[in-house]
Amino acid sequence: MSDSQRDVLRVRDLSTRFFTEEGQVNAVEGVSFDVRDGEVYGIVGESGSGKSVTALSVIDLVASPGKITSGEVWYRNPDLAEEFRAERPDAVRDEFVDLRRLPKGVRRSLRGPGFSTVFQDPMSSLNPSLTVGEQIAEAVEVQRRARANPRSTRSRTQGYGLGKFLVDSLVPGRDYTGEESHERAIELLDQVGIPDPAQRAQEYPHQFSGGMLQRAMIAQALAGEPDVLIADEPTTALDVTIQAQILNLLRDLQQEEDMSVVLITHDLGVIARMCSRVGVMYAGQMVERGSLSDVFDDPVHPYTQGLLGSIPDLENPAPRLQPIEGNVPSLLDSEMGGRCYFADRCPKAMESCLHPIEMHDADAGSDEHEARCVLTETDYRPEEALPEGYFDGGDGDGGGGGRETDGSDPEAREEEVRADD
Ligand code: SF4
Repeated sequence: MSDSQRDVLRVRDLSTRFFTEEGQVNAVEGVSFDVRDGEVYGIVGESGSGKSVTALSVIDLVASPGKITSGEVWYRNPDLAEEFRAERPDAVRDEFVDLRRLPKGVRRSLRGPGFSTVFQDPMSSLNPSLTVGEQIAEAVEVQRRARANPRSTRSRTQGYGLGKFLVDSLVPGRDYTGEESHERAIELLDQVGIPDPAQRAQEYPHQFSGGMLQRAMIAQALAGEPDVLIADEPTTALDVTIQAQILNLLRDLQQEEDMSVVLITHDLGVIARMCSRVGVMYAGQMVERGSLSDVFDDPVHPYTQGLLGSIPDLENPAPRLQPIEGNVPSLLDSEMGGRCYFADRCPKAMESCLHPIEMHDADAGSDEHEARCVLTETDYRPEEALPEGYFDGGDGDGGGGGRETDGSDPEAREEEVRADD
């Protein structure tokens, strides 16, 4: 692997649960992927497949009742690795640190210079009562203070006690951000293509169009000069011409700043246009990953094949689009069953699919193409196909046998997971 192909992020077996009144929801289950320096890595899947929770888990933003229950998030940062090598040897491996084993204050200080996020709906992500410029300047200021003392969250709010908070609530934007941060905010607005940025910085979010708001969100995310920018469905709320502009902007900025980008989307066209490698998610698991050509030209997992098969082909239009029958499962632990989670929708489901499936090499010609499917190791055998209606039994796993924890008390299971953590 050349220097330019070094990993900046290695996510290993990351699992996140939500402990709800209905039971334990396995939103992310054993997800692993690597992101290299200066690449755009795509994560694609249907709504509810766990893409966004994966991103939130990486940057430690999962809110209650969610909890990261296991896994490692290795981030390449030689300075931090050196700082913690003696103090927390289990959190350091070569130039990498495991974010989950670092103190909370350090993890927080990495939001901005380490990782930054662009969310899908800028209107609900920006504060309507503050000017756009003030919000970006605040992000710049937070990063400036964090850089001054990366191990302390206090540095971010130094001198910003309850009194100032109350005054600022009445007079928004007063006094927390310095002149330098305001100037930098204007520069960032200029960098993301907002015309007349000094004037626009003084306007409120409702005075911006959808595309301009998304540009402002990107400017805010760039405030900390992040190593990794996580863009979560950044174009979903935009019309198609503005989508193209925002994608071009993201690509230009990624190249200019030499950032790594994790691009989360349900849109395979966006992945094809932007990404060098891709992971496909289904029901909280990554089910196939590899280079763009591995996954798009030679998909192995029937879910990936189904996603690609449901794209209209303008050159060879089919009489009807081929949808993937059925729906994404609920992800409730009690309903998932110890089997391939796609089995109830898979046209090639066999008896050998009725147990938990691990990732396997998918292609002898590529060392990074993997899929969570028995078809990586065996051909489809129609004589072993599950009978029609196998999963219609109403117990969620069609009699295919539950996972080992099925039938246990969900509360006891929750306690077990918490204890493990
Ligand atoms: S493991 Fe079986 S059910 Fe699952 S995707 Fe592969 S063939 Fe289909």
